[in-house]
Amino acid sequence: MSEKKVPFTKDQIEKIIEKFPTPFHIYDEKAILENARRLKKAFAWAPKFQEYFAVKALPNPSIMKVLKKEGFGADCSSMAELLLCEMADITGEQIMFTSNETPAYEYQKAFSQNAIINLDDFTHIQYLEESCGTLPEVICFRYNPGPLKGGNEIIGTPQEAKYGLTREQMFEAYRVMKEKGCKRFGMHTMVASNELNVDYFVETAVILFEMAAEIAEQIGIDLEFINLGGGIGIPYKPEQHEVNLEELGEKVRVQYEKILASKGLKPYIYLECGRVITGPYGYLVTTAVHEKHIYKEYIGVDACMANLMRPGMYGAYHHVTVMGKENAEKDHVYDVVGSLCENCDKFAVDRKLPKIDKGDIVVIHDTGAHGHAMGFNYNGKLRSAELLLKEDGNVELIRRAETHDDLFATLKF
Ligand SMILES: *Cc1c(COP(=O)(O)O)cnc(C)c1O
Repeated sequence: MSEKKVPFTKDQIEKIIEKFPTPFHIYDEKAILENARRLKKAFAWAPKFQEYFAVKALPNPSIMKVLKKEGFGADCSSMAELLLCEMADITGEQIMFTSNETPAYEYQKAFSQNAIINLDDFTHIQYLEESCGTLPEVICFRYNPGPLKGGNEIIGTPQEAKYGLTREQMFEAYRVMKEKGCKRFGMHTMVASNELNVDYFVETAVILFEMAAEIAEQIGIDLEFINLGGGIGIPYKPEQHEVNLEELGEKVRVQYEKILASKGLKPYIYLECGRVITGPYGYLVTTAVHEKHIYKEYIGVDACMANLMRPGMYGAYHHVTVMGKENAEKDHVYDVVGSLCENCDKFAVDRKLPKIDKGDIVVIHDTGAHGHAMGFNYNGKLRSAELLLKEDGNVELIRRAETHDDLFATLKF
């Protein structure tokens, strides 16, 4: 079992901490870019392959700009995320708007940005038309395959999921849109979250490809694009393996050739991954502040659930590295905990680690997606800063830490 690596030495991180006190998240630009290029290469066979980065995973315009340099667009689901696109200078069809239970003002915003609008329900055709006064030039529908698709651990079975249109509704939706004069169509689904099994995605692609072929045959619509969604997982645990993107790309290509290209259909292929794009390349850097010996051994750090919810919320595993002790024997068993008045505020439970001393720098891995973004202010805890470790080795503050003034800014008394 190989130890997970961090992209800085103890000396380097100490220098960074002198300027930016812990806790903070730091993102590794070089690794993000290399990984982005790998994904593009794996799908280079697909006409106009496009990744729309799921903004909710790491909603920071500096990161969106880094990804934009690689040609990535943005997958948005809220007003805030659409506004972040403006800050990152991501416009038009580089934005995919996949929302649900959408308020009219969000549709209006997405429409005004010329974003690709992905409808979550049949009734939203009318709602969108009424909200915007007209329908956009290109329209996409989110498919919920229901019983056709088995479940995934985080997202649940599609039949229980609130998202998307049924199979019958999909056909009806394209028919209606065709009658209304729409010329450009897309199809989308998103049925996985943190899934490590390549074949799960291939199976999803087959479901969409087959439906696209049927829609071409029955309705005479040649889909412009198929968005296979996101949900590619990452190996949070050292013994897990990352998804082989090359294998995924190749297996999807085989099905594309077989089901679509053989019939002369050549839709563009889109993805909207978040986690796999930035997740492994973010680190929550904290300092050990307390040690406590009661029925168990506790290490209290200066970060808490305000900075990273996943362990407390889902019992998710995040690997922990103690800086300078990477090779030390893991002969202690700790709960590494934050300061919230919630007993689930634990970054690690019964974790074998080297002896931790007060002042040690404790790094929590894989916080580059759904990390800072999920933070909340319970107990009045403040969300941390975000730093970007640039390709050239410099460190840039891309979000300052919250202050109590920020926290109290909405109060009226
Ligand atoms: C959350 C979400 C994504 C991204 O999921 P990841 O697991 O981060 O890849 C993509 N599309 C939609 C519609 C989502 O809700």
